[in-house]
Amino acid sequence: MGTSCPEKLTGHCYCGAITFSASEKPEDVAYCHCDSCRRSTGGAVAAFAGFKENAVTFTPHRGQEVTVKPGAKRTFCADCGSSLTGSYDYLPDQIYIAIGVIDQADALTPNIHCHDAERLSWLHIDDELERMPESARAKLNDH
Ligand SMILES: [Zn+2]
Ligand SMILES: [Zn+2]
Repeated sequence: MGTSCPEKLTGHCYCGAITFSASEKPEDVAYCHCDSCRRSTGGAVAAFAGFKENAVTFTPHRGQEVTVKPGAKRTFCADCGSSLTGSYDYLPDQIYIAIGVIDQADALTPNIHCHDAERLSWLHIDDELERMPESARAKLNDH
C-alpha cells in the first residue's frame, strides 16, 4: 500500500457493537464486482482490504457467520447488519474486511478489480488498475 496508509487501522460496524484493529497494513485492497459480494453487502460494488488473518483483532468477536456458498464465510453484525468480513478457503490465512467499516478507508486505495466481468454495466470507475475478469485468487495469494 502507499506511504499514506496509517500504521494502525481501526474500524467499527454501523452501530458500534463490533470494533476491530489491525496491527499491519492490508496486503491488498480489492474491488469485487461479483454477484455474491453485491448481494451480501447491498452495494453496487464491494471493496475489501485483505489482511493476514492474525493481524486483525475483533472486539468482542468478528460477527455472525454466514456461509451461503461453500468455501466462503462472511460475517455481519447481528445488531445492525453491517457487512464485516469475508474469509475464503482459496485465500488461506487471510481475512477481507469491508472497506466501508474501516475508519481510515480514505487512505486505502484499491489496487485491483476482481470479477470485472460481473460488473454492473452502468458502473464506471475511472482508474488504471488491473482488472481480473474472474477471480483474482492467484494474485491475492501471491505475497
Ligand atoms: Zn453493528
Ligand atoms: Zn466477490
